[in-house]
Amino acid sequence: MTTTETLLSHWIEGREESSRSGRQGEVTNSATGEVVAQVPFADAEEVDAAVQAAVVAAPEWESTSLSKRTAIMFAFRELLHARRDEMARIVTTEHGKVTGDAQGEVQRELELVEFACGLPQLLKGDHSWQVSRGIDSFSLRQPVGVVAGITPFNFPSMVPGWMFPLALAAGNTFVLKPSEQDPSASMMLAELLAEAGVPEGVFNVVHGDREAVDALLSHPRVNAVSFVGSTPVAKHIYETAISHGKRAQALGGAKNHAVVMPDADLDFAADQIVAGAYGSSGQRCMAVSVAVAVGDTGDEFVGKLNDRLDQLVVGAGDQPGSEVGPLISAAARDRVKSLVDAGVDEGAELIRDGREVTVDGYEGGFYIGPCLFDHVGTEMRVYREEIFGPVLVVVRANDLDQAIELVNANPWGNGAAIFTRDGNAARAFQLTVSAGMVGINVPIPVPMSYYSFGGWKASLFGDVHMHGPEGLRFYTRGKVVTSRWPESADAKIDLAFPTAT
Ligand code: NAD
Repeated sequence: MTTTETLLSHWIEGREESSRSGRQGEVTNSATGEVVAQVPFADAEEVDAAVQAAVVAAPEWESTSLSKRTAIMFAFRELLHARRDEMARIVTTEHGKVTGDAQGEVQRELELVEFACGLPQLLKGDHSWQVSRGIDSFSLRQPVGVVAGITPFNFPSMVPGWMFPLALAAGNTFVLKPSEQDPSASMMLAELLAEAGVPEGVFNVVHGDREAVDALLSHPRVNAVSFVGSTPVAKHIYETAISHGKRAQALGGAKNHAVVMPDADLDFAADQIVAGAYGSSGQRCMAVSVAVAVGDTGDEFVGKLNDRLDQLVVGAGDQPGSEVGPLISAAARDRVKSLVDAGVDEGAELIRDGREVTVDGYEGGFYIGPCLFDHVGTEMRVYREEIFGPVLVVVRANDLDQAIELVNANPWGNGAAIFTRDGNAARAFQLTVSAGMVGINVPIPVPMSYYSFGGWKASLFGDVHMHGPEGLRFYTRGKVVTSRWPESADAKIDLAFPTAT
C-alpha cells in the first residue's frame, strides 16, 4: 500500500474507527484506473459495534425535541450545501461520473435533506375529539429504532440520501453500509452530520461486502433494512431481512423503456433519449436502455440517435467537455463489452460501436464509448439483461398496444417513458404501463424529494417506495391512542363489544 492508498475507517459512535478485520478491497479512480484507497471489509464484530452504538444512542435521539432535530437537519443541509463541490469531486474521482452529473446528484440529495427538514409537519398525527362520549382518539408515528441502509455504487451520495435524512428526522438511528466501490462519500456525510450536531452513535458507517451485509441482516437489534442495488441481491436482502423479522424495502435493477410514437417530435425525443441513455455512462437505475420505435418511425429515429452520438465526448469526469465518463471498474467495462459482443453474435445490428474507445492520457481508465443497437429481439441478451453501461437498444412495435404489451412483459418495472404529441396515447400509457415511475416526454422520470421513488415487479421487493411520504411511513410505526378521563361515578362493568355512544 502506498501513502496515497490510505486505508479508510468505519464511522462508529461519532468518530473514525479503524478496522481490525484484516480484510479489505481496493478503491480505484475510474478515470485513470489508479488505486486511490483501500476500503476495509467489516466482520460481524465490527458490524455489531456499529449497531450497538446505534442502539445506545436511540432513546436519547428519539426523545430529542422536534425543534432540536429540525435545527440539526437544517445545519446539515447548510454544511452539505457549502461543501457540495467537494462532495461532487469525491463522487467523480471514485465513481467516474462527469462533474456536472455529480453536482446534479448532490443537488438532488440537498432536496432530500430539505424535505426531511420539514419533520415537525411531517410527523404530525391526526386527532379526533369525542369519538364516543368523553373519548378522544389520536394517532402517533414513532421511530422503528435502528435502521440499516445498504447502498449501490452508482449514486454514492444521493442514494444514502434517500434513506438517512428521513430516518434520522423521524427519530431513528442509522447504520450505513455503502458500496465498497466508492465509499468515501459516505465518510464525508458522516463528518458533516457530526459537525451539524448529530449525536454520537446516531449515524454510523460500516464498510464491507456480503459478510458485513449478512451481519446486519441477521442482527437482532436492527429493526428495518433499506436496500438499493441489483435485483438478485435485492431479493436476497428482502427475503433474509423479513425472515429475521425486520421491516424491509429492497429496490432492484431495471430495464427502462422509452416508447417513441410516430407523432412525436423526433428531434426532441432523440435529444432526450440520448441524454437518458448515455448520461452517467448508462449507470443509472433510471437510464433509458430500450427505445421502442412505433410504426414507421424506426429508421428515421435511429438515424437521429446515431447523428447525436457523433457529438458525445468520452473522457475523464473532471475534464472540461467530458460527457460520458468511465465505468466504475474494469470488470464492469469488460462485462458491458461482452454483452455488446453477445448482441452482435445474436444478430442485432450494431449501429454504433464504442468498444474500442480510448481516452488519450487516460489509458488505464475504464472507458467504453456509446453503443447503439437496432433491430433487437426480445430473446437477445442485450434486451433481457440489465447492461448498466452506455448501450441503447432499439426494438420495433407496430402500434401503441403492442409497445405497451412489450414493456409490460419485461420482468422489470422501474421507469417507463412515452414520447408523443397525443394526449390520449399518453393517458393510455400512464394508466396501463407496469412501472412505478412514468415519464411523458420526460426520459428519466425521477420523482422529486416530496414524492416517493420506486419501481414495480423485479425492481422492488417489499411494498413501500423510498423517500417522500412512503419513506416516512417506512421509518415510522403507527399507533392510535384512544383516551378518556372518567369520573369514578361513571364506572360500571359492560362486557359487550364497545361501540360509540
Ligand atoms: P449490487 O447489488 O452489486 O450492490 C449493492 C450493495 O449490495 C452494495 O453495498 C454491495 O456491497 C452489496 N452486495 C453486493 N453483493 C451482495 C451480496 N451477494 N450479498 C449482500 N450484499 C451484497 O449493486 P451495484 O452494482 O452496486 O449497483 C448497481 C445496481 O443497483 C444496478 O442493478 C442498478 O439498477 C441498481 N440500482 C437500483 C436503483 C433503484 O432505485 N431501483 C437505484 C440505483 C441502483
